[in-house]
Amino acid sequence: MTVSIRASLLLSAFAMAALTAAFAAPGDTPEDGKAKPAHPTHWTYGGEEGPEHWADLSPENRPCAAGLQQSPVELSGAMSADAPAPVPHWIPANSTTVANNGHTLQVNIPTGGSITLEGKSYALKQFHFHHPSEHTVDGKAFPLEVHLVHAASDGDLAVVGVLFEEGAANPALDPIWATAPIKEGEARINAQIDPYRFLPPVVGVYRYEGSLTTPPCSETVHWTVMATPATASASQLAAFASLFPWNARPVQPLNRRYVLKTSG
Ligand SMILES: [Zn+2]
Repeated sequence: MTVSIRASLLLSAFAMAALTAAFAAPGDTPEDGKAKPAHPTHWTYGGEEGPEHWADLSPENRPCAAGLQQSPVELSGAMSADAPAPVPHWIPANSTTVANNGHTLQVNIPTGGSITLEGKSYALKQFHFHHPSEHTVDGKAFPLEVHLVHAASDGDLAVVGVLFEEGAANPALDPIWATAPIKEGEARINAQIDPYRFLPPVVGVYRYEGSLTTPPCSETVHWTVMATPATASASQLAAFASLFPWNARPVQPLNRRYVLKTSG
């Protein structure tokens, strides 16, 4: 009896320690637009702290391995549907910064407007880039993907992804690339940032329910990916790749989910 009481006390002490650890050391969460925690769990895109080990790095990263609605995903095989696309109400922003957070370049936008998705408003918080793209089509990655991260007042997230293929230069990238710190740090962008300039000319989107593509992989994201790619020039693509040679999580199983594709 004594032994089992002691065992259960020990167990609860461990449980408490695990809980405390989860709250005291939250992971680095660039995807959700929140302030950087004081002691982020270190993670990478390769090696011993790479995607297949994210769940082992911190208790709060558990969804990275155990989740059934993870992102990114392969988009071909989407079902045609009349799923509503998000309606943007973005505002060109003048007071923006670009941060090199060691994982990506992230443009922080204090007042960038919002999108409406299924009657709910999500404020634009930041956008950031992945090379190669995280979402794939027919098994193929694109050379760049931008994620425009929006948050509702209840913490729900809506991310709009745009894939880039090599082609005409996108002038909207230039002031970001020109300002971006080469090492970790943040700098003010001396140009207006207009999110509409990242959209491809053709309407049509993929929609599905998923997660952050970075630790802690929280399954709180309503995903929209534009169905046609935008373009960036070879030198623009190379400039980002020189800073971040690989910052994409591999595609995750759909499990019981469907990707919907809508034409308007
Ligand atoms: Zn992202």
